[in-house]
Order: sequence, then structure tokens, then C-alpha cells
Amino acid sequence: MSCSLYVHVPFCERKCGYCSFFSMAGGREHIPSWLDTVKREAESYSRNGKIQLSTLYIGGGTPTYLTLTEWETLMSVIRANFGTSTLTEATSEANPSSLTHEHVSFLRDNNFTRISLGVQSLSDSELETLGRVHDSGSARRAMSLVKSSGLNLSCDLIFAVPGQTLRTWDYSLRSVMDYAGHISCYQLTLEPEAPMYSRYGGDDLNGAGYKFYRYAQYMLPRHGFGQYEISNFALPGHECRHNIAYWNHSDVIALGPSAVSYVDGVRYANPSSLEEYISGVKGEREELPPGESAIELAILSLRTKWGISRASLLPEVEYTISQMPPDLFVITPERIALSPRGMRLGNYIWSEIMLYADT
Ligand code: SF4
Repeated sequence: MSCSLYVHVPFCERKCGYCSFFSMAGGREHIPSWLDTVKREAESYSRNGKIQLSTLYIGGGTPTYLTLTEWETLMSVIRANFGTSTLTEATSEANPSSLTHEHVSFLRDNNFTRISLGVQSLSDSELETLGRVHDSGSARRAMSLVKSSGLNLSCDLIFAVPGQTLRTWDYSLRSVMDYAGHISCYQLTLEPEAPMYSRYGGDDLNGAGYKFYRYAQYMLPRHGFGQYEISNFALPGHECRHNIAYWNHSDVIALGPSAVSYVDGVRYANPSSLEEYISGVKGEREELPPGESAIELAILSLRTKWGISRASLLPEVEYTISQMPPDLFVITPERIALSPRGMRLGNYIWSEIMLYADT
């Protein structure tokens, strides 16, 4: 069996103002028990080492919060339980403030191919508003460290930050283009539990995001970065294979608190609590009925530029699509995909398809 593996590292130096991912500030003393539990969980999935990994993604949280000794333990757990000689891509997320030369060398020596760096902005005042630990200088230092190592670099950027202008957005986009082959652009969204919510939660951040997104769609392709998914742009050949596996509904084993696996049509969601995870509390198991699974696949596939094959599309979903404005889609005899405008209005399209699912 071949599948992808995700490991969630739930530790960060401190909480960013907009964060609603499952992670804790500090918590270094919990790392040994988190690693022990990851080991137990990996063993429960390993099928006597018969699973060959196609992609590996270490995310979080902040994987570069781990020391090299902790990284070595993590990698030995992965190698002891899964075949890694078949990997076509291995990525670690990293934070500019904690990524060291030693981390980069370790990742390169362990056959990682990519680093995904949480740059978010090259404006110091925006980074401060977001409550990031790093400043623009450390973002540049980290990008240059990865570039000079020969590893592929992906950078995350955030738009619709309070105080952001098209000029600062353009500056951030141009700055990361000098280093990265892959750029992810996410709109700032604030969940009620995010520290920034009390200050900005009532602001119309969604409305504010449109012009920034449109600008990225205009500017990045002119510099060779094709949009291959709603939030992702890449130079040819730099698309993230691990994320493509998610959007194709391929099997993904996910280890760590809050991680969600999808194996043989069954979804397992680990508890979003380190304490519960370590003490072995079972997460939620959900077997998707075929109809729901087909709708989910349609929504996931439509996120990408490749879209979905019409042969695997439920006729009712195809009918729902036919009732929407035609310029939202690129339709060929074989496939249906979103047009650039459709990507801008993705939320509207998902809600129309989900409406069908609920009837
Ligand atoms: S680094 Fe990422 S996971 Fe950690 S607090 Fe910031 S946004 Fe959240």
C-alpha cells in the first residue's frame, strides 16, 4: 500500500495573534511524551512496515521548535514503521525565527526536498499586527538560508491584514518571488478563539481580501507562478504533491493531536488536546457514505486547476454547476475546473454544491 504521511508538531515559541491551529506556546517538557505517543500511533498504522510513503509532510505548530535530537527520534520512528525509499517529496514547515543552519542541513541529509516557511509578510508593521515572533530581516535570512541549501522553498503569505495596502502586498509578493518556487496566499481569517479576534473580529476582513487576492492572481502568473489551487501558486514542477494527495482524496495517515487521517474511505480525527492525545483518548471515526464522499471529492478536486473528471462527477453536482454562471468554470468534454474568477468565488460555489448535498 502506498500513501502520504503527515505529522503534527503541536509546539510553538508563542501564539500568533490570528492562530486557531492546534498548538501550544512553549510546552517543551511535553515533547518526550508527544514523541512516545507519535511512535505508538505510527506502530498502530504500520501494517508490519508494508506501507510505502509517497509524500511526507511535517507540519504544525512549528516543527523547527524541535531540537535536532528530537528530530532524530521523530525520523527514526517514521523509518521504523514506514517505507521511505519511495518518497517523491518530503516537506517540513519552518518558522523564520527558529530555523537554523543545523535544521536545514539535517533536513537535507534526511532526504527532505522542501521547506515551507511561514513568512506571512515582509512588512514589519504587518508582522507586528499579526503577532509573529519574527521580523522581515529574519524572514529574509531564513529564505536565503533555504535557497542556498538547494532545498525547494515554499513561502506562506497573508493578505487582508489590518493596515495592509496593495503597495505592501506587492512588496511582500516580489520579495518572496526572489527566493521561492512555491507561494501560498491565505486570507486573514479570525476565529473567536484567536487572540486578535477581540480587536479585529468585527471588521470586514473578508470584503477587504478581494483586491489582494485578485492582485496575486494578476501578478504571480506574470512571473511564472501558475495558480494550481485556490491558495497556491508555483513555478512549473514546484507544486506540492502532498497537498495534491489531499485534494485527490488519496490515503493520508496523520499522526499527532488534531491530525486527521483518511485511509480506505474512513476519516479518523485525533483529539485536539495534547493531554487527551497522550493519554490515548480515541478521536472521531467517520465512514463517509459514497454520495457524501463523491461530493467531498468534487469540492476538493474543484479547488485545483485540474478540476474533476466528468466521469466521476455525480450527475446532480454537474446539474448544480450548470445552473451557475458559466464564466466561473472551464468545461471540456472530459473535465470541469474553476476559472480564475471561479477561484475568487470558491466559497459561493462550495455552498451551492453543499446545498445540493443537504437536500
Ligand atoms: S507559528 Fe503557526 S501554528 Fe504557531 S502560533 Fe503562529 S500561526 Fe499558530
